[in-house]
Amino acid sequence: MNGMNEAILAVAQAQQGDAIPVDIPPMTQSAPFMGKPPVTPKTKIDTMEEPRLWPKIRGIIEADIVNKPRNLQRELGPSELGTDCLHCLAAKLAGWEQSKQPAWLPYTGTCLHEHFERLFSNPQVMYGGQVFDGPAPEELKPLYCTEYTVTVGRLNGLTGGYDIKGSIDLWDVPEGATIDWKYVNDNSTLKLAKAHGPSQTYRVQASLYGIGLRNEGVDVRLSCIYFLPRNSQTLNDAYPWEREFDEKPGMWALSRANLLANLLDVIELADGPKMRDSWIRRLPHSTGHCFDCNTWPDSTTLPEFDEQAWPEVPDQWLQLMDLLEPEYQFTK
Ligand SMILES: [Zn+2]
Repeated sequence: MNGMNEAILAVAQAQQGDAIPVDIPPMTQSAPFMGKPPVTPKTKIDTMEEPRLWPKIRGIIEADIVNKPRNLQRELGPSELGTDCLHCLAAKLAGWEQSKQPAWLPYTGTCLHEHFERLFSNPQVMYGGQVFDGPAPEELKPLYCTEYTVTVGRLNGLTGGYDIKGSIDLWDVPEGATIDWKYVNDNSTLKLAKAHGPSQTYRVQASLYGIGLRNEGVDVRLSCIYFLPRNSQTLNDAYPWEREFDEKPGMWALSRANLLANLLDVIELADGPKMRDSWIRRLPHSTGHCFDCNTWPDSTTLPEFDEQAWPEVPDQWLQLMDLLEPEYQFTK
């Protein structure tokens, strides 16, 4: 933000005549010539060193990043339920305030998703090359549906709840397959996925989409996760993962989230929200990488919150943590 403020200041100063544009020779300027030797003009702006338009352009892009629906959502979605980070799952369920910078890399993935949505909803692709005068006949089933919203389950606390909804990137209708794009930002992540398969988070997400589609009476047979490389010239490095649809990982995540939501409510009801938050703070973090860990008020990167008093959590509440599994045991 500092750089942006400096640039805005430079523009304002230039408009007030503080700086003389570099491409106008001093002798042609309208300022009265007082008989002094010409002074070398200051070269503050309109040089290649100080971009003038960029701050405003960047502002538009970053506002779009922050306003993307997935950044505004407060209710949990299928992409969050499978995490192996119990701490962050609980923090989200409790509605903790999260502070995130406008994230550029995930945004590029969102842009790719939007393009694929256009590509696969193009009538030529949707109906396998059949061309119609006007809209396609209603009785004809499309080959693909994009960004198809389904209800995968429900989250019930003691005082309320909501349906968990998610949007399937691509539904291959005749194959009964859900497809999820994963835009992978570096090749080491891609190698890791190829060696160990998709993460628990991704596999649970795929399972939940299948559950959501099946809830509508669709015969779901396949779950697909396609890892697409950001840093490759071709799609040869892509990692397509296709497995028979399995409802169990999704059901596991749904029941875990409901159990956790109820535990949070029980603690809050008995000892208040501060005790609940203190309990969340003691929950185990992911043993791998978690994008959310350092975005919460209890994160060590925000020292001002670390000093606030967290109530001592009694054993009866600590023991409840044993009921929660960070990891699902996949059979293969
Ligand atoms: Zn975390």
